[in-house]
Amino acid sequence: MISIKSEDELRLMQENGRLLAEILAELVAEVEAGRTTSFFNERAVEWISQCGGESVFDRYAGFPGVINASLNEEVVHGVPSEERVLKSGDLFSIDIGMTRHGFCVDMATTVGVGPVSEAAKRLLEVGEQSLWEGIKEVRIAKRLSDVSHAIGTYVESQGFHVVREYVGHGIGHDLHEDPQIPNYGPPGRGVRLREGMTLAIEPMVKVDDLPTSVRDDGWTVVTASGGLSVHFEHTVAVTKEGAVVLTLRR
Ligand code: MG
Repeated sequence: MISIKSEDELRLMQENGRLLAEILAELVAEVEAGRTTSFFNERAVEWISQCGGESVFDRYAGFPGVINASLNEEVVHGVPSEERVLKSGDLFSIDIGMTRHGFCVDMATTVGVGPVSEAAKRLLEVGEQSLWEGIKEVRIAKRLSDVSHAIGTYVESQGFHVVREYVGHGIGHDLHEDPQIPNYGPPGRGVRLREGMTLAIEPMVKVDDLPTSVRDDGWTVVTASGGLSVHFEHTVAVTKEGAVVLTLRR
């Protein structure tokens, strides 16, 4: 069932989203070679609790962290670790979610650690733009797969590939609600978007076109070729005025 939020609930989610966006921006500002991925997890634990939130990833299916910290060929669900040290030229994806006053918000970004290769820069640009291509399709009466289609066709047109095994999702009281939002597929399918729906749209974009796999830790999703992957996510509300991105700093 797809939950519909009232205007008051959307305002609360927007406040949560603003706080989460500030936390993610602070984490990104701390990105530098030599830091471990668990450094970022610890900062996130501290800042989420300071703003009155609670993390959701560690409670959700027992993920061992409050952020996903994924490097290079790691697509999502990278486990924060004292052993993983950022190196110059790495791509670092941080996915972070929290719940506050009963409503979840979820977002992700990928950044370079110091200077990155031209190929990595291009992947970052296309990954980020693909999220906005999807968000452009969010308005009342559009079909859900119009969002999926816009993301997938844009990414393929740029010579990259979307991850098919992991998808975006509705969000609200729970982190993962209906509907699922793939990042590929034909347009004009699925539910019609209605005022008050909130969607976590999250393209994962990679250089190869092969199925991903999961490492022996049982969490970390990696590309088959070892090629790079990036991840960008916003929580977005469907409103009379169109898409409102809830996870933005104001
Ligand atoms: Mg998500």
